Amino acid sequence: MVKPITSLHDRAIALLEQRGVSLEAIANLVIFLQKDYIRDLTLAQARESVQIVLRKREVQNALITGIQLDIAAEQHQLIEPLQTIVENDEGLYGVDETMALSIVDLYGSIGFTNYGYIDRLKPGILKLLNAHEPGIIHTFLDDLVGAVAAAAAARLAHGEPDEARTPDK
Ligand code: MG
Repeated sequence: MVKPITSLHDRAIALLEQRGVSLEAIANLVIFLQKDYIRDLTLAQARESVQIVLRKREVQNALITGIQLDIAAEQHQLIEPLQTIVENDEGLYGVDETMALSIVDLYGSIGFTNYGYIDRLKPGILKLLNAHEPGIIHTFLDDLVGAVAAAAAARLAHGEPDEARTPDK
């Protein structure tokens, strides 16, 4: 018997929340990135842009895959040497960043600049995700959250009014 599948979209958002990342927290990163460029940007607009980015299947797939790997690493379920690499968030690994860039890539060149910028400064929720508390692993999630914020900010920067105006796209 085939079990009913929760939509990828709902699952990705539920996983984000389960891992301590609210849409609000991502929207705040968008504000951080855009505040000098779109001065009257509201949290509601930032949040809407995040929601539009989260409707993309590529983004949902990346989130679910990355979060699954973080959880598996917390449970010591990965094969070596991957377990050690992910557990220690080793800088030269790079697959977490590659996955993040695949999200950023969906929204044009401004997204890359945005991503590099918040990845370096790690404001807001990114700082919490990078706390490296014992037993808690966010090796993939921190990059993915930064990428979703960078993509949402790039959408606003590139000005995609048509997409924004279509309520159920
Ligand atoms: Mg990482």
